[in-house]
Amino acid sequence: MEFIGFTYVTNFLENTLKEAMFEVVDEANRLLRDWDLGVRFLYLDSLTLEPGYLISVKTPEETVRLYPLEVLIDFLDYRLKVEMEKDNGFVMNKILGLISFPLASRNPYLDFYESFLGFETERLGRKIMVLSMKPFESDALKMALRALESPHVDEDVKRLARRVLSRELETFKMRLLKGILHEVGHAFGLEHCSGYCVMNSPGTMALWDTRPAFFCGSCMKKLRESLTFSFEPRKL
Ligand SMILES: [Zn+2]
Ligand SMILES: [Zn+2]
Repeated sequence: MEFIGFTYVTNFLENTLKEAMFEVVDEANRLLRDWDLGVRFLYLDSLTLEPGYLISVKTPEETVRLYPLEVLIDFLDYRLKVEMEKDNGFVMNKILGLISFPLASRNPYLDFYESFLGFETERLGRKIMVLSMKPFESDALKMALRALESPHVDEDVKRLARRVLSRELETFKMRLLKGILHEVGHAFGLEHCSGYCVMNSPGTMALWDTRPAFFCGSCMKKLRESLTFSFEPRKL
């Protein structure tokens, strides 16, 4: 069995979404078990970033404050390294960090405010993955959360907001689950796929909603091979 360290950044994360996030990671583990894949997520407590790392990014509509991708990668890599040095007898050289703000980079060669769904990089055999949950939040979800938090909203509106929230949370969770499975696929060498498959990368969120929460036959086969292969050398 191989493990992927899972952590999340607490900054900007609402409680409701945090609970939903944990349910989704549990669900991802259930699916990996049902598919008989030798990989699971292992929770490694949360990360809180200091305000000093915040950068301001001007967009046509507003100025948003967020953490640069480079800082996140450094933190996640360090967190993974600490875990690997414990040498607790199991295989773990990958980490997934979930964040609740858009991804942005200081790299001038990347379109500065381009928000990616996910980002993966490798350092000395350690794989670091970052996935922003922000694009998975619908406007209705954000509005319902705001209404429920506001002390100035009356009970009737809150009742409506709770109904909207429970529906929109299901959409959020499904989008996130597929995002996580997609990153798992990349982590084990899968490329994008044009079939009815979670590795079929979407141009829009509406398209993402049409993707299934599973790997097509050919991607699943590659995934199994890659997992088997990654075990072999360690048996020696
Ligand atoms: Zn992808
Ligand atoms: Zn596929």
